[in-house]
Amino acid sequence: MTIQVHQFPCLSDNYGFLVHEPESGVTASVDSPEADPINRALEEKGWRLTHIFNTHHHFDHAGGNEKLKSKWSCEVIGAANDASRIPGIDTRVSDGDTFVWGNTEVKVFEVPGHTTGHIAYYFAADDVVFVGDTLFALGCGRLFEGTPVQMWDSLQKLMALPDETTVYCAHEYTQANAAFALSVEPQNEALVARSREIDELRAQGIPTVPTTIGRERATNPFVRPMSSDLQVTIGLEGADLVDVFAETRRRKDNF
Ligand code: ZN
Ligand code: FE
Repeated sequence: MTIQVHQFPCLSDNYGFLVHEPESGVTASVDSPEADPINRALEEKGWRLTHIFNTHHHFDHAGGNEKLKSKWSCEVIGAANDASRIPGIDTRVSDGDTFVWGNTEVKVFEVPGHTTGHIAYYFAADDVVFVGDTLFALGCGRLFEGTPVQMWDSLQKLMALPDETTVYCAHEYTQANAAFALSVEPQNEALVARSREIDELRAQGIPTVPTTIGRERATNPFVRPMSSDLQVTIGLEGADLVDVFAETRRRKDNF
């Protein structure tokens, strides 16, 4: 591992993430749900905040930008096509950009759907991706600003990463997501087993984040529109995958 990731709870169900590259000493907060817990985590680890990597503009992701920036004079990185909504943005990045960060590299994916300017940060050397509110463990973000076609394309971009990729999603929504997933793909044995595991973890207050691309590929209905079990359950046997995805997302909104 060239990077270290420290995960901690923020607000009611967000996770904060500090990423540290020890050779150069840089430390980034992925999003800024809340300044105080992020400052406490920095103090606990003995790290100095040098960067904020914003995934999107929502308050529970960029709400701490200004407070952190005034304390640390850190560099704020965010989506070029949503720069006006990212408080304190310094550096604008776009799809496919790769930038050097400390002694490693970060690749940017544009993953619109939840918002129009949502991005993900991929640390290829460590096979780690921060996906904000695009992909969740057993779920995906609500389509507040984008279309089902955009979100489906975004999810496919993430699913093209290796199965072993560690996926840090921004919320602990997994148990509720599991209940929905089981309702639309009841015969998926890997999902049934995972759902049991999730209940055990949550009963002990243990996070279900991070997940992996491979685990989502096997159990997350939002990236499994090709599943005949899912297609039959929602009455769309043989339909276009994007239509199956859209109907799955619509049902989750009303679940
Ligand atoms: Zn959001
Ligand atoms: Fe969020």
